[in-house]
Amino acid sequence: MAVSRFSRRVLVVIGLGVAVPALILAFLGAFLTLRIARAVQDESVKYNTYLSQQVSEAYEQEVMAHLRRAVIPAENAARNGATMAQVVEALGNEGGEFDGAHLVPVDELDGYSLLIVESQPLIYAAGTGARQGDYFTGILLRDPTGQVAGAGGWWINPRKFLTAHLEPVIQDRLPANPHLYGGFESTRRLAVQLFAPDNSEIGRVRTPGPARTARVEALQGPFEGYSVRVTATPNSPVVWAGRFVQIELAFIGLMGLVILVATVFGLRYTIRQLELAQLKAGFVSNITHELKTPIAIIRLAVESLEMRRFTTAEESQKFLDMIARETQRLSTLVEKILDFARLEAGQRVFRFESLDMVEVVRGAVESMRPRLDDQRFQVVVDLPDGLPPVQGDGTALTQCVLNLLDNAMKYSRDRKEIRVHADARDRYVYVSVSDCGIGITPGDQKRIFEKFVRLENGLVHDVKGAGLGLSLVSQIIRAHGGRIEVQSTPGEGSTFTLVLPAAGGMVSSAEDVSRKTAS
Ligand code: ADP
Repeated sequence: MAVSRFSRRVLVVIGLGVAVPALILAFLGAFLTLRIARAVQDESVKYNTYLSQQVSEAYEQEVMAHLRRAVIPAENAARNGATMAQVVEALGNEGGEFDGAHLVPVDELDGYSLLIVESQPLIYAAGTGARQGDYFTGILLRDPTGQVAGAGGWWINPRKFLTAHLEPVIQDRLPANPHLYGGFESTRRLAVQLFAPDNSEIGRVRTPGPARTARVEALQGPFEGYSVRVTATPNSPVVWAGRFVQIELAFIGLMGLVILVATVFGLRYTIRQLELAQLKAGFVSNITHELKTPIAIIRLAVESLEMRRFTTAEESQKFLDMIARETQRLSTLVEKILDFARLEAGQRVFRFESLDMVEVVRGAVESMRPRLDDQRFQVVVDLPDGLPPVQGDGTALTQCVLNLLDNAMKYSRDRKEIRVHADARDRYVYVSVSDCGIGITPGDQKRIFEKFVRLENGLVHDVKGAGLGLSLVSQIIRAHGGRIEVQSTPGEGSTFTLVLPAAGGMVSSAEDVSRKTAS
C-alpha cells in the first residue's frame, strides 16, 4: 500500500518549501561573496599593475638622474667646439656605477633609439663588439652647426643595473608616491619580482603570494625585454580575503549539501513512516478479517453440532473436521503473528544445529502434502544427495519453506505446478520453490519482503494473507547469515530461493551431487 499522492505532494511541497529557500539563500551568499572577492581582487590587480608601471618609470628616472647632471656641460662643450676628449671629460663620471664615459660615433651604434624621459632625449642602442649584450645609454652630441657629432654616455648592463637598483627603486621611489598608500595594500605587503627576457626571475623584494591574475609590466628603453610584477605577499589582507572566500564558499557548499541531504532523507523517512502507518492500518483490517472467518466457521460448526443438524455419523464428522481445520488455521495465523512480534522485538531465540536441508525441505513438503493434493497441485521435488549441512534452526527453516510453499499455492491460478529444488554452490546451499502463478513485476520484487506489504493488484485481492510471510522468511534467513532471492515474470510464475551458508564451508561441487526426483 502506498502513501496517497496527495500526502506525498504535501510532503514534497513542505520539504521543498524549506530546502529551496535555504539553498537559494546559501547560493545568494556564495554569489555575493564571490562578487565582492572578485571586486577586491580586480582592484588589487589594478593597483599592482599601477605599481609595476611605477617601478618601470622609476628605473628610467634612475638612469636619467645619472644623465641629468652630465648632459648640459657635455652638450655645451660639444656646441662650443670642444674636442672629443673634452666632451668626454665634461660627461665626467656621473654614470656612477656605469662604465666610464665614452664618446661613440652614431653610425657605430647598432640602431639607436631615442627615448624621451622627463623631456630629455635619452639615446640607447644595442651594443656591438666587446660590449655585446650591453646598451649604450647617453645623449646625442651636436656640433656648433647643429649636426649630430656623436653620442656621449655610458655602457650599461641592463641585468646588473636592474638587480642592483631594485631595492633602492622600491625603498626610495615607491613610498614617495602617495597613491600607493591609499589602496588596499601597504608597500610592506607588496612583493616585487624582476624577470629577464627569458622570463626567469632575476631578483625580488619579498616573496609573492598566490596571485594568478597579477599582470607583468614590460620595461622600456634600455631595459626592453625585462619586466616587473607587483603582487601581494602571502600575509597581505587581499590574500587573506581570498582564503576566507574559499573557506566561506566551502562552508556554504557544505551547508547546501547538508540541507539537501537532510531534506531528501527527512522526506524519505516521513514518507516511509506514513507508508508504514498505512500498511499497519491495512494489516489490522486484514488480520481482523483473517481471524473472523475461521471463528465464524467454527461457531457455525459448533452450533450445528449442538442443534444436531446432522443425520449421519459422517455428517457430524464433517463438522468436527471443519472445526479442526479452522482451529489449525487460527493457530497457524496466531503463531505467525507471535513469531513476527518476537522477531521484531529481537526476542526469537534460534537453536542452531547441523541440519540437512534435504530433510528440512522433505519434511515441509510432506506436511503440506494433504493441502497440495487436496488442491490438485503437481509437485516436483528435486533434491540431491550429499548436500552439505547448514547451521540452522530446524523449526525456523521449516517455517520458511512452508511459507514459500503456501505462497506458491496461494498465488497460482490454472497451472498448479510447483517445483522444489535444492543445490549447493560456492559454499552456499540453495533451496528454491518455483510456481507457475501470477508472478511479480520487477518494481514490486523488493517491496514484498517488507512487513505488512501485500501487492495491490486484482489478482491478489481475493487471496487471504497478512503480509507477514515473506518478511518473516527474510528475517529468519538473515539471522542465519543467508539471504532470500526472487526471480519472477508476471503471468508466468515466480521462484523464491533461500541461500544459506554451508556449515564449515566445505561443499561438494555441483557435479558430485546426485539427484533424487520425486513427484
Ligand atoms: P501474504 O500473507 O500476503 O501472502 P507475504 O509476505 O507472504 O504475505 O507476501 C507478500 C506479497 O508478495 C503477497 O501479498 C503477494 O502479493 C506477493 N507474493 C508472495 N509470494 C508470491 C508468489 N509466489 N507469487 C506471486 N506473488 C507473491
